Amino acid sequence: MSTIAPERPRRAGVRKPTGLFLPELVFFEPDALNYPKGEKIMAWVKDQGIPYRMTTSHNRITNLPGETELEQYKIAKRTLVVGLRKTLKFEQSKPSADYAIPIATGCMGHCHYCYLQTTLGAKPYIRVYVNTMDIMDAASKYIAERAPEITTFEAACTSDPLGLEHITGSLAELITYMGQQPLGRLRFVTKYQHVDPLLALPHNNHTRVRFSVNADYVIRNFEPATARFEERIEAAGKIARAGYPLGFIIAPIIWHEGWEKGYAELLEKLARALPEDGGRGLTFEMIQHRFTKTAKAVIEKRYPKTKLEMDIEKRKKKWGKYGQNKYVYPDEQQTALREFITERIFEHFPEAGIDYFT
Ligand code: SF4
Repeated sequence: MSTIAPERPRRAGVRKPTGLFLPELVFFEPDALNYPKGEKIMAWVKDQGIPYRMTTSHNRITNLPGETELEQYKIAKRTLVVGLRKTLKFEQSKPSADYAIPIATGCMGHCHYCYLQTTLGAKPYIRVYVNTMDIMDAASKYIAERAPEITTFEAACTSDPLGLEHITGSLAELITYMGQQPLGRLRFVTKYQHVDPLLALPHNNHTRVRFSVNADYVIRNFEPATARFEERIEAAGKIARAGYPLGFIIAPIIWHEGWEKGYAELLEKLARALPEDGGRGLTFEMIQHRFTKTAKAVIEKRYPKTKLEMDIEKRKKKWGKYGQNKYVYPDEQQTALREFITERIFEHFPEAGIDYFT
């Protein structure tokens, strides 16, 4: 059970929306301290003066402060749990990759539409895993199974790992490892900007870094506690100059008043901001907004003032992978969004590839 570490004066403040994330409370599972990464994170936590506790398992964390469920949710989003990844069976991750590679779960961002709202249920705190070697060994087995095909791993299925990189260093390890795998590729997507520790890594073109971008209206209204558009683009320029394959995910594409202007401006701004050679090998992925009934109920509880449109009457029902119907845009709206944005992409980036629209 939990033991409370002696309180120390805190140097760390609350996370600034565009700064490096500093948790307000950290839990350690005891085994985590047997790993160098666990020890390193403990030293960082002490150095930052962040209160920490020991817990036998993240499943036993039930006593987070906060009077209401909403307060507890907000506090959970600023709580870090340092432990081991026990399940080394990777989930499939179509259409963006073959498998999801798990290095963290949960995120400090507050994007209203985020699917982690429902997939993490009552455990929205952030978990990072210290046994990266075990995770990479498991990846090697998946690569061997599919040889001579290339196997692609997505590192951002359950988190935004770049937002946690200053705490874990796990992305740098994965990028370096994948650089040495003739048949392994890594990709991750982010809404954060802290790419500097990745720039000098021997990535060997085996990691594609994608930035999640959107119309100004979407970023302003639905993506609190993430990096600003300009910061993401500046980071994208650094990634391109460091020779990484670069991509953008426009997601979720949201039908809103003035959407044509919003998405046209997005592509114009991207074209202006990227270095000339950023366009080589550039890819785009497009994901329209979708929700399930469960997600709608959770989002309305957690972000009661959200302007996110989730009117089932205005949507088309689509059978979802986990047995839950999801609601997407009707066909005419989907076609209009896909065609308009695709045309703008090719207008500004004639050599770019479009991986999918879903
Ligand atoms: S940054 Fe990504 S993972 Fe984090 S809350 Fe936003 S959508 Fe979810």
